[in-house]
Amino acid sequence: MLKLAEPYRAGLAGTFDDPRDHAASRRWRRAVAMALWACLIAAGGALAYFMGERAAIRSLQQGTLHRLDIYATGLRSELSRFEYLPQVLSLSPDILDLLRTPADRNLQLAANAYLETVNAHAQASAAYVMDVNGLTLAASNWNQPGSFVDMNFSYRPYFRDALRGVPGRFYGIGTVSREAGYYFSFGVVDGGRQVGVATVKVNLDKLDAPWAHSADQVLAIDGNGVIVLSSEASWKFRTLRPLSSQTLQRLAQTRQYTEAGALTPLDMREHMPWSGGSGTVVQLSATGAAGGGTRQPFGPDYLLDSRPVEGTDWKLIMLSDMAPVHALARTSALVTMFALVFLTLLVMFFQQRRRIVRHRLAAREALQRAHDELEHKVQLRTEALSEANLHLQTEVAERKRAEEILKNTLDDLVQTGKMAVLGQMSAGITHELNQPLAALRTLSANAVVFHERGQSDQVDLNLRTICQLTDRMGQITAQLKKFARRSGVELQSVPLEDVIADAVFLLGQRIRQEHIELEHQLEPALCALCEGNRLEQVVVNLLVNAFDATAGVQGARRVRIVACRTAGGVALQVHDNGPGIAPEVMPRLFEPFFTTKEQGLGLGLGLAISAGIVRDFGGLLRAGRSSSLGGAAFIVSLRNGQQETRHERIART
Ligand code: ADP
Repeated sequence: MLKLAEPYRAGLAGTFDDPRDHAASRRWRRAVAMALWACLIAAGGALAYFMGERAAIRSLQQGTLHRLDIYATGLRSELSRFEYLPQVLSLSPDILDLLRTPADRNLQLAANAYLETVNAHAQASAAYVMDVNGLTLAASNWNQPGSFVDMNFSYRPYFRDALRGVPGRFYGIGTVSREAGYYFSFGVVDGGRQVGVATVKVNLDKLDAPWAHSADQVLAIDGNGVIVLSSEASWKFRTLRPLSSQTLQRLAQTRQYTEAGALTPLDMREHMPWSGGSGTVVQLSATGAAGGGTRQPFGPDYLLDSRPVEGTDWKLIMLSDMAPVHALARTSALVTMFALVFLTLLVMFFQQRRRIVRHRLAAREALQRAHDELEHKVQLRTEALSEANLHLQTEVAERKRAEEILKNTLDDLVQTGKMAVLGQMSAGITHELNQPLAALRTLSANAVVFHERGQSDQVDLNLRTICQLTDRMGQITAQLKKFARRSGVELQSVPLEDVIADAVFLLGQRIRQEHIELEHQLEPALCALCEGNRLEQVVVNLLVNAFDATAGVQGARRVRIVACRTAGGVALQVHDNGPGIAPEVMPRLFEPFFTTKEQGLGLGLGLAISAGIVRDFGGLLRAGRSSSLGGAAFIVSLRNGQQETRHERIART
């Protein structure tokens, strides 16, 4: 393994980035981008919320101010109906007369009747006249329980204002009637001198009664911040904010709200004054009760808007529910966020699409390149293949030619081997033929003599013997001819018995001459798949070798031919009682031209040719490990052929 020095490795690390670093930095960049994107969406949502809220508040406020205008106009017109009534009363002669002569009962009755009439027509709560000390001399309710007559109202500010010549305006709770009302007063002047005060009290209850049906909270506060009119009845005579001690003291002196309770402030929490307008956002507790005891949970937001009521120190206040404002702001924030998300997704989609298209184009280009390369390679390879094919064809042709030559050579070799065997047998054959020839000559010469002597019986006998001898000679030459013929390797079922018989016949002369004991152990009707003539050549070779091997044996020379069935087919064995095969000879047995025989006796081709012939039959020729006769054993293993007897074969052919 190649080892790098540390500094060099460090240098490489700097040069070639680690892919894991790439992946980590890509993840990091993606996380940052996601965070930025989320921030952007949140910021967009917040901005949309803010803008939506502003727009909604503005629109709400427009409506509120418009409705406040309507309420203020209603209030103002209601009050203005009674504004001049005290002045009118102050001009009445009945009133003036009574103030000039307060002790006159008749004048008092007349003033009472007048005030009663005016009050009834004006539909005010009460109309009454006081002297300069604040003592009520006449009143519209003179004949009713809780009449103001003889009551002193000098402590009321409206009395003091009117006495100073200023028209009095005052809202408070009646100390006698316990009813809240608006008081208008005007000074009665007689001969340039203030002689009394004419007052009209107006009940405003019916004014704010319809407000209760409004969806908004409407209320009117006086100059002190005390709620005097309200759509919420329980808020009346409570304050928006806690009152200062001086104010409370002043109110106690004038007994303005003495009977109305503790003037507790509403439990109201003010938010920021809204910068876009004059309104303030407030929250009221569930009950609006003062926060003295347990704190009540605060309810929804309200937008507080106010406007002054002309001609009074009052203010009209409207609390508009902010729920629609919040809903609108929320909706606009959500819509904006959705739009931003959608926009982002759209952008991402188009980016992704562009990337995919780019990748696809790149892939197509790469594919085209690969295709071109492949085509080029295929072309090159095809050319190479064509060339190789051409080579191969030439080689095949050459090999076929070589095979043909080899086959012919082998055939020639087989034939040569056959001829060699015949050559070796030639002496025996000559002897075999010479014997009958000599006999023929003698018999024919004797026959001539017998003919001259007239011994026709002897002539006849000699001629018959001559015929038998020529038959025998014909048989020998026929066998020789048959053995010597050049045969092919057309395989057929051949009875082993016949092949062995033919081989033995050829070698008959030698067997007899050399007194060789030839034994046969043949299983009947054995057929091998082979070519008969060539197998005969193999058997002749094996027998000749066996005869040669037993040549030096003391005593009987024995050779045994065995033919038997085996598991894979048939076997033909040749055993002898010769010296056997020496261990150093064994590996070279089938080598061509290997022989241990003397010059002229052996060519060293017999076993090589025989092994080749048997191989052509699909069989095997081998030397056995041991022989049943103590010498060598050669075994020819062949495929089992069709089992036919010799007679059947003759009948077939
Ligand atoms: P050749 O017979 O011409 O020598 P072969 O190929 O037939 O050629 O035989 C080769 C050799 O095998 C022989 O020279 C001999 O040494 C040995 N051999 C063959 N058959 C036998 C046998 N039956 N016994 C002993 N040796 C044998």
